[in-house]
Amino acid sequence: MTLAIWWIRRDLRLGDNPALSAALRHHKVIPLYIHAPEEEGAAAPGAASRWWLHHGLQALDAQLRGMGSRLVVREGRSALSVLEAITRETSAEAVYWNRQYAPTQIERDKGVKAALRGKGIHAESFNAALLFEPWVIEREGKPYRVFTPYWNACLKHGIDQPVLPSPVVMPQIPSSIQDLPLGTLGLLPKIPWALGLEERWSPGEAAAWKKLERFLDQALEGYKTHRDRPGIEGTTRLSPHLHFGEIGPRQVVRTVMSRLGGVINADAAHFFSELGWREFSHHLLFHFPHTVDHPMDRRWNAFPWPAVDPRLWQAWITGCTGIPLVDAGMRELWHTGWMHNRVRMNAASLLVKNMLIPWQEGERWFWDTLVDADLANNIQGWQWTAGCGADAAPYFRIFNPGLQGERFDGSGEYVRRWLPELVSLPDRWLHRPWAAPANVLCDAGLRLGEHYPHPVVDLGESRSRALASFAQLKATKINLT
Ligand code: FAD
Repeated sequence: MTLAIWWIRRDLRLGDNPALSAALRHHKVIPLYIHAPEEEGAAAPGAASRWWLHHGLQALDAQLRGMGSRLVVREGRSALSVLEAITRETSAEAVYWNRQYAPTQIERDKGVKAALRGKGIHAESFNAALLFEPWVIEREGKPYRVFTPYWNACLKHGIDQPVLPSPVVMPQIPSSIQDLPLGTLGLLPKIPWALGLEERWSPGEAAAWKKLERFLDQALEGYKTHRDRPGIEGTTRLSPHLHFGEIGPRQVVRTVMSRLGGVINADAAHFFSELGWREFSHHLLFHFPHTVDHPMDRRWNAFPWPAVDPRLWQAWITGCTGIPLVDAGMRELWHTGWMHNRVRMNAASLLVKNMLIPWQEGERWFWDTLVDADLANNIQGWQWTAGCGADAAPYFRIFNPGLQGERFDGSGEYVRRWLPELVSLPDRWLHRPWAAPANVLCDAGLRLGEHYPHPVVDLGESRSRALASFAQLKATKINLT
């Protein structure tokens, strides 16, 4: 039997893996991971993602070894140079992979495919990451810019799709095929920060399925309301597993459907629509590649951002803004590499709208610190919150983190977990300690400015300032296409 390469990228799984299945149909398969981050540009993983990648690859290697195979790790200046070398060395006749959708990845893959085919090697790619590839759902040949019609079109196409089974056996890899120990890639951070990631996460396909099972047993019922409450585990926490392809969206949809006997209730419909935002983000990034670092709404190019105030920036990244919901979120992010969606929106809104710091700065910080950092989702999340994206929150919607905290973390479970200095403050004042009467602060043993900061921005004043600046943009006339 001839040999083929399964070029592994963000598809760290054996189940529903079309590239792997196709390769196994005709060949003995060599599972290959190539470390060549320089050529990924903006999609090269940040620090938290590199931690995940290391452990995700380790988990995949263990799975493969359990089946008699192993992961081959190589590095090089480009994926193509490594593929050319290994196909030459092993006489492999084919290379199979699952597609990625960042602009730099698309360019790289086009080049790789053409070069391999030019050498007579069979090169074929597949979809493992999305329900619908970005170019599938279109209206009269044009991309969608608004979520609801986009998602309705997806639902019409059918989101419950067949999934491929995991292979039962994997062929042995000849011992002559050399590889690098994973540790030599230097993916693990050298700072103690990684301890928090280890406590919180278990990368790998098995762990992803455990998370999905927990969600089905404990959180699918009530998802529509509980998903907004950061103090409880009301969502799947599948985002890093989905990003690294340790589970695929087809598998998630099919498993939920089969648990519900095919009847989609309101909670499931809402959950599917969140997967829909993931699809929509990829659709937008593909059709509007300039959004990697520029606003979708080009009027925002003219926004007069003031120079970044280093005092505000430092307060935001360290979770010391004096605004509890945001500080809790930024500390959760630093300790666990993850932040609840409701809190991400508040933290982003505070940075962009109250502090007037460009969304790109926040996007880069999230990119480096999130274990689920995903170019399409992160950009969409930031541009949506800033008001410069497709179907974005309007510029005048400025989150009030005090009110948001009272509404979604009324009993203070979330804020008290991450801000122990506020633990004794009564619920009524927990989300706005600056407004608490002196005797309440004294009873809680809390001195503002000493144990916990005064707010670094006045929410009311900064809101008015932002509204005045954003209103100028509204008047700008520009063709948005
Ligand atoms: P669930 O509620 O269980 O949702 C299931 C899945 O749907 C998620 O795992 C995720 O893949 C997808 N999803 C849910 N909400 C969204 C959304 N709003 N946009 C796109 N996909 C969504 N998500 C990322 O995966 N990576 C990012 O880098 C990222 N950056 C963000 C930045 C900002 C400023 C904001 C506001 C949101 C960002 N999100 C990002 C979206 C969202 O916060 C996370 O996907 C979600 O919190 C993950 O938690 P979960 O897996 O428990 O979600």
